[in-house]
Amino acid sequence: MAVKVLINGYGSIGKRVADAVAKQDDMEVIGVTKTKPDFEARLAVEKGYKLFAAIPERKELFEEKGVEIEGTIFDVIEDADIVVDCAPGGIGKDNLENIYKKYKVKAILQGGEKAKYVEDNFNALWSYDRCYGKDYVRVVSCNTTGLCRTLYAIDSVTDIVKARVVLIRRGADPNDAKRGPINAIVPNPPTVPSHHGPDVVSVVPKFEGKILTSAVVVPTTLMHMHTLMVETTGTTRDAILDAIEKTPRIITVKASEGFDSTATIIEYARDLGRMRYDLNEIAIWEESVNVVDNEVFLMQAVHQESDVVPENIDCIRAMLQMEEDNMKSIEKTNKALGIK
Ligand code: NAD
Repeated sequence: MAVKVLINGYGSIGKRVADAVAKQDDMEVIGVTKTKPDFEARLAVEKGYKLFAAIPERKELFEEKGVEIEGTIFDVIEDADIVVDCAPGGIGKDNLENIYKKYKVKAILQGGEKAKYVEDNFNALWSYDRCYGKDYVRVVSCNTTGLCRTLYAIDSVTDIVKARVVLIRRGADPNDAKRGPINAIVPNPPTVPSHHGPDVVSVVPKFEGKILTSAVVVPTTLMHMHTLMVETTGTTRDAILDAIEKTPRIITVKASEGFDSTATIIEYARDLGRMRYDLNEIAIWEESVNVVDNEVFLMQAVHQESDVVPENIDCIRAMLQMEEDNMKSIEKTNKALGIK
């Protein structure tokens, strides 16, 4: 029997997770929630999702606008085996305390929440076993997910002594007209190291003290980019390329074949016919992979809106103890979502 999943917060991440859950043969979406009756709410109903008001006092707003609604979150939460919270960053922790714990329902929070509010932090490659059967887990951010995957590949063939990463972050998601910058490069955070290293450590504790990051935000909406410099005890370029090839949810792209920027990587996702031009995989530039004096260098692009989506699916399987083997869950999710 399919497990029942409620998506609380049908925004950029929520609508993608809902569509991904709907594609799994062992899961069903029992409802999605919205705070306002906007076009996304109307589309959710048109797509066949049962819509609930995330905030009970707003229920009338939906009725006034003629958006079909089944009730409020409190009319559906007791039917859920698990809630995937996709509310804006900072709200998930309040939902955890005020709703999920009260109703004793398992919940997944997203990367906009702090690690300290949950029992553990999820990446399908690193912490599936640790999160198995747990009640409150966070799927880490898009950047952390990208770093976890690539460091997994490197770690599979050598020992990591120290990783240094520069993150070039997108200014806003494509649908967001309020954020920027539009003509500047912003050190964000301005302090070094940034919080991204400790976030990786929340998933991979053995990297404590070994990963240092800094980050800037630039005027682009398509993807993030990371430059990694990883000191190892010894490896070769071929060994790293082979490890990347064997690691799920990472692809390599070649500048020589026209992948000259994040723009062409997204064009590739569009040409593949990916819904919303999503690229769930991390894209590593093959030419950038190099090893100099045991130090691995590479550059990668991260599609911020979609790399965490398959992780949420595997996290559901782990928390509800549906599949013991993380690689089997990854394979099942990838097959259902058409991930390379
Ligand atoms: P979003 O603003 O696109 O969507 C959030 C949705 O939650 C909206 O539909 C909003 O109406 C709804 N909402 C607002 N208040 C709510 C409440 N009290 N209860 C339930 N729902 C509520 O945000 P997003 O970009 O999808 O981000 C969601 C989470 O995912 C955040 O933690 C964010 O940090 C994380 N995340 C975002 C990205 C990204 O690139 N957008 C990537 C990885 C992780």
